[in-house]
Amino acid sequence: MASDPDLPPLPSYSLAPLPPLLSPIPDGILVLICPVVAYWVVSMFFHWIDVNDYFSQYRLHTPAEVLKRNRVTRWEVVRDVIIQQIIQTAFGFGLYFFDGTAQVGREEYDTMVWATRIRLAQRILPRILSVVGVDAVGLAGKLSGYPILAGALSGGHYPFLIQKVVSPSGSIAFAPAFAAWELFAARAIYWYILPAVQFVLATLFVDTWQYFLHRAMHMNKWLYTTFHSRHHRLYVPYAFGALYNHPFEGFLLDTAGTGLAYLITGMTTRQAMWFFTCSTIKTLDDHCGYAFPFDPLQHLTSNNAAYHDIHHQSWGIKTNFSQPFFTFWDRLLNTRWNGDVTLRYERSRLAAQKLINEDTAGAAATQPNEEITPDEHTSDPSDNSNIIDGAATLSRSEEENLSSRNILPRSVRRKTNPFSPQTESRKGLSHGLGGSIRQK
Ligand SMILES: [Zn+2]
Ligand SMILES: [Zn+2]
Repeated sequence: MASDPDLPPLPSYSLAPLPPLLSPIPDGILVLICPVVAYWVVSMFFHWIDVNDYFSQYRLHTPAEVLKRNRVTRWEVVRDVIIQQIIQTAFGFGLYFFDGTAQVGREEYDTMVWATRIRLAQRILPRILSVVGVDAVGLAGKLSGYPILAGALSGGHYPFLIQKVVSPSGSIAFAPAFAAWELFAARAIYWYILPAVQFVLATLFVDTWQYFLHRAMHMNKWLYTTFHSRHHRLYVPYAFGALYNHPFEGFLLDTAGTGLAYLITGMTTRQAMWFFTCSTIKTLDDHCGYAFPFDPLQHLTSNNAAYHDIHHQSWGIKTNFSQPFFTFWDRLLNTRWNGDVTLRYERSRLAAQKLINEDTAGAAATQPNEEITPDEHTSDPSDNSNIIDGAATLSRSEEENLSSRNILPRSVRRKTNPFSPQTESRKGLSHGLGGSIRQK
């Protein structure tokens, strides 16, 4: 296209290795480090909020529920997440050796290629306008006071835009030039619009990849019991449990999903740094256990902690498969949870608190979790056919009391050792319900 004498010539360029963003760490290594660091820094922030019981009014579950309903210890979660991150980093490290060194130097050339495309697109403008009965060339003739607009309407003809070109031998020639708006649009496309489109396409790919694989994990009993049931040991998710998975599932859904999104959309390593890190933070935010009104990640899309938390409940496990960004697959394929969840959540809270109170009183509790949610201890928690309205060991009078008053009981708040069940067990029911969880 550059050989057309009516088009502005493309500039020459020379390539050089791209200096690392954070010398001396190569970008190909930094892209592996960023998501892991982000995971632990952000999730430890949520953990700090959790153990200090800050923002308890936005908790989705009480500390009592964390203690009584989850079927895995925090240490086991930490161990398995680290195993997944080791696998993910080792895989990425392997790919790094096959990746060529990123080059820099042709950005201006690529921008001009886009400017040339914009110029060529204008050539079909008169034909498009003629379809709707507008004589573009005739109209351009009447717009002599607006030469740029006239030039665009006439098919991208700007005879008055000339530039001086110096050849390598030193001779000077004159050639067509781009209009300022064409260069502005080309730079906007190259530097902002294309990366944004790549980012959105990558999120759509990851959502699609994860929806169908996640759903398959629930539909196929072998897949569920062998792999995915591990993630569902967390009935009360918390931030650093986001990547608590069977290693194979972690690799297939997270590592392969985001890795393929990066390859398919043609991202650069630095774009991938953003994408992997944002995906990681969004995934852990979806498991943070809080419905925050001030967390932008919880309001950019309808997929958030409250939405995904429903999927972690025994009564909602066959719904809300979408993760981590959007919910459109659940809507399109009718797997979105519909209905009010307030009473179900409050039943679980009261049942967990009841067990804590019994523990405190020294009552015998041989299998405490069975009292909360018998369905959560079946061999296949994905099979919720036998569920009778979620976690329910409350008496009729308690239920009536709940539904009529909709008031949560309060008990003593204590600071706790983050990993100590003994101290956690004394924590009470001390929170409210974030508005976003009240699904209508
Ligand atoms: Zn699941
Ligand atoms: Zn989850």
